[in-house]
Amino acid sequence: MPIELTMDEFDYDAIIVGAGPIGGYLAQKLAEDNLRVLILEEHSEIGRPFQCAGLVNPKAMASVGLLETVLTPIWGARIYSPEGTLVEIGQKNKVRTWSVCRKLFDEAVVIQSIKSGADIWLSSKPVNLKIGEEKVEIEISTPNGIKNLTTKVICGADGAHSWVRRKLKMGRPKETMIGMQIEVAGYEGKEGKLDMYTGSDISPGFFAWVIPSGETARVGVWSQTKYIGEKSCEDLLNELMRNSRWSYKFKDCKEVGRFVGSVPSGILKSTTSTRVALFGDAAGICKPTTGGGIGPGFAHIDLIAGDFINLIRENKLDARNLSKIDKSIDKMRKSQSRARALRDAFLSHSSDDELEEIFKIWAKPDVIEMINEVGEIENPIPLGTKMLREIPEFRKLAGKAIKAVLWS
Ligand SMILES: Cc1cc2nc3c(=O)[nH]c(=O)nc-3n(C[C@H](O)[C@H](O)[C@H](O)COP(=O)(O)OP(=O)(O)OC[C@H]3O[C@@H](n4cnc5c(N)ncnc54)[C@H](O)[C@@H]3O)c2cc1C
Repeated sequence: MPIELTMDEFDYDAIIVGAGPIGGYLAQKLAEDNLRVLILEEHSEIGRPFQCAGLVNPKAMASVGLLETVLTPIWGARIYSPEGTLVEIGQKNKVRTWSVCRKLFDEAVVIQSIKSGADIWLSSKPVNLKIGEEKVEIEISTPNGIKNLTTKVICGADGAHSWVRRKLKMGRPKETMIGMQIEVAGYEGKEGKLDMYTGSDISPGFFAWVIPSGETARVGVWSQTKYIGEKSCEDLLNELMRNSRWSYKFKDCKEVGRFVGSVPSGILKSTTSTRVALFGDAAGICKPTTGGGIGPGFAHIDLIAGDFINLIRENKLDARNLSKIDKSIDKMRKSQSRARALRDAFLSHSSDDELEEIFKIWAKPDVIEMINEVGEIENPIPLGTKMLREIPEFRKLAGKAIKAVLWS
């Protein structure tokens, strides 16, 4: 017969590993509902080092209300084909995404959780854990030595290389992209617009970006090892800034910071197991089209928070019960697969010549109008589907995508 433990027999209802934006947001949701929550963060401060272009979509921003962390509102984009065909989109009165200071943003999200009642231990990380039927026992390395705690559930919000995920052998995200970004002063962009560059020599299979962020701009590339072969993302960034047809735009740029990181995309087959749940990058939740992880990470938490809180409260945290909350994100999984199929058809699986053809169609005024009307940075499916249905030239270019997107 299972032993019944009362609330007080656990040090915490939930221990969250990782005080990134996702761990912070999750902690807030749980603490607001009066659960006892502890966040463990291995660094001595929040939001450093960060690896992010700092774009936060309007829905995610609305969930945390942190407009004070915004550096530049982004309402448009200039997207360049390999040969230089320009597709310029956006309407000034419609903010598509916010460029934020990631350090301030991450700190503010975590502060909100602390105000809601969560505890945080900095410079602390789990070194061992034992998942039992009745509780989780965690051994934690802290500045004051090893501490042992018990909790009902452990939540891994510990990023792309999640210790929790690896420790409990919970699989890997379908794809991992590598991103490299530098922060520069002296880039002449267009106010409120991000610039995107394509081409096999710059960002094979993906795109390079320049994002205005207040006084500076963030120049980045992302790709996958299968596309870049012997090269590194640094080589690609150098190619963009020094040798490409766009190099003149970067001639006055001075580097003020650099970041390299992984973008894990493809939600794990299962994000839960007995007394464990994974969130954010740890769960492989980044968008395959933009690399954005904050918006979908928040959306995942919003989707499951109610049921998860009930399960924690009732201490019904066996694999079967938790698999129900995992099942509830199947729609997100499907939507990610469709977005990946669209990305592959329009970008990743296109040669430079095919991209050129695609851009020529995108640059037509009626197609730009369609993009402005239906296009959403975070959700490309309605636009992609409409294009595949209504623009005959795209049907032949994207035969595979039609199959994957329209019938998946
Ligand atoms: C170049 C680049 C650009 C990007 N641009 C964007 C963008 O513009 N918009 C966007 O939405 N996303 C972007 N992303 C993705 C985004 O950065 C992540 O999706 C987001 O940070 C995920 O948040 P998280 O809280 O899951 O993980 P993280 O932000 O990685 O936070 C994890 C936290 O856990 C801590 N931690 C890790 N291991 C342990 C441990 N064992 N014990 C204790 N603490 C631990 C870390 O120190 C960290 O604080 C970009 C990524 C890259 C690489």
